Amino acid sequence: MQIEAVETIMLQAELQEPLTIAGVSPFTVRQSNLVRIKTDEGIDGVGEIIVRAAPEATEAIVRTILKPILIGSDPFDVELLWQRMFSAMSTRGHSKGFMIEAISGVDIALWDIIGKATKLPLYRLLGGRQAKQLRAYATALTFKDKKELVKDAERFLEMDFEAMKLKIGRGPRVDVENMKTVRESVGDEVLVMTDANSGYDATTAIKVGRQIERCGAYWLEEPVPPHDIDGYVSVRKALDMPVAGGESEFTRFGFRDLISRGAVDIVQPDVTRAGGFSEVKKILALAEAYNLPYAPHNFGSAVCLAASIQMAASAPNFLVLEYDATPNPLREDLPATPLPEVRNGSVEAPPAPGLGLEIDEDALARYTIKRGQ
Ligand code: CA
Repeated sequence: MQIEAVETIMLQAELQEPLTIAGVSPFTVRQSNLVRIKTDEGIDGVGEIIVRAAPEATEAIVRTILKPILIGSDPFDVELLWQRMFSAMSTRGHSKGFMIEAISGVDIALWDIIGKATKLPLYRLLGGRQAKQLRAYATALTFKDKKELVKDAERFLEMDFEAMKLKIGRGPRVDVENMKTVRESVGDEVLVMTDANSGYDATTAIKVGRQIERCGAYWLEEPVPPHDIDGYVSVRKALDMPVAGGESEFTRFGFRDLISRGAVDIVQPDVTRAGGFSEVKKILALAEAYNLPYAPHNFGSAVCLAASIQMAASAPNFLVLEYDATPNPLREDLPATPLPEVRNGSVEAPPAPGLGLEIDEDALARYTIKRGQ
């Protein structure tokens, strides 16, 4: 089997209501890049590249650096291709960021082809299913007034979630008040994660963390910026609750530093950013060697959700899956058939081959902003 075409499709959907988190300006649109790889045997694969800004950046990397490596190659040589893509730029200072995000999308598409060619769901090819029921938590309760916050928490419970995440990072007073409001609303049995989105320095994160752990916060996510590893270490030492992080980290090399320096209790690689299935599997083995659980970061289109489910189902150290429950047309409208829904707080990996996802071409065309070549 040979790769004949590699294309990046840039997608954008307007949001009716901006999504507000700490640290960055509100999301007014949702963006994702899809990678589509075609083979001479008529089997196509799809992958996703995370987009937080400038979708053209990873589109250009795929077109000018990765595509020449891929054309004419066999998709089953996925790990060899990963090494070739990584070594194309890694010794020239590009071993993180956009470069690895682009590789992630390609790697997911290659695995989708392998799954479709062998007619097996990816979790079976990634080592087999570790768990049938994958516990999921709703992302997220954002910065809203008390009444709206309670309404959102109730909506997540109605959707059958038994765990949900509260966005914090806007100041100790607001964070503690919101945590108390949510805890009172959902009761003691529901898991409530907290996520500061890198909004604090270590001192403030510790101050907030000590107060919210008294309200039974399940974990504190991204307390400080991803490059402040010493800050992570201080926060982790000072608090009783686990510190989660890693959604902004790349490859086994980046996670080696995060894990070996004792920065996190829970690792959160994003399969559409950290290096795709090939690389996240290695990151999880590294985490397992340190006895750390894996909670997939998942905040993208339907392709990201499908890929995160496959990765979670095959991970021996899987803890809980992030499930984006905010409105996102790229998640809701792209699948031609419905994606797995939450039942009794969990989702199941679908039995269909590859990612287990068929794309609705009309929806894809509707959200496409510009085509790569
Ligand atoms: Ca997060």
